[in-house]
Amino acid sequence: MSNVLRCDSDCLFCQIIKGEIPSNKIYEDHTCYAFYDINPQAPIHFLVIPKAHISSCGEITKGNSSIVAHCFEVISEVTKKLGITDFRVVSNCGAKAGQSVSHLHFHVLSGRDLTWPPG
Ligand code: 5GP
Ligand code: ZN
Repeated sequence: MSNVLRCDSDCLFCQIIKGEIPSNKIYEDHTCYAFYDINPQAPIHFLVIPKAHISSCGEITKGNSSIVAHCFEVISEVTKKLGITDFRVVSNCGAKAGQSVSHLHFHVLSGRDLTWPPG
């Protein structure tokens, strides 16, 4: 896993994982961390992130994709726990696509009608 770093001291989400920046945590295990977005775009809006520092969807490889698969298992588990059946999973990749934090994250949005196509 050459492109998977355990920790990046300059990365906001790595700091959240380490507890250096507080977050409203929903779920944590050895591989993933889930917490509510500070600026929610829907009544329910949380983020699921790998603990390993992968910078975006563009850096997913055969070597680290099992981590990503686990993030999706967590999304399925957490949505069930929250009683959510209708939701959207989004990952912005690159500044032009709206990525503002360079640590792979999956937005989970729910609690309102979500329009398509997205902006
Ligand atoms: P992006 O814009 O990269 O797709 O998503 C980054 C998300 O992280 C944004 O929705 C933003 O609101 C959220 N965010 C940024 N800083 C913090 C923070 O300090 N705490 C939490 N909980 N969310 C954050
Ligand atoms: Zn990071």
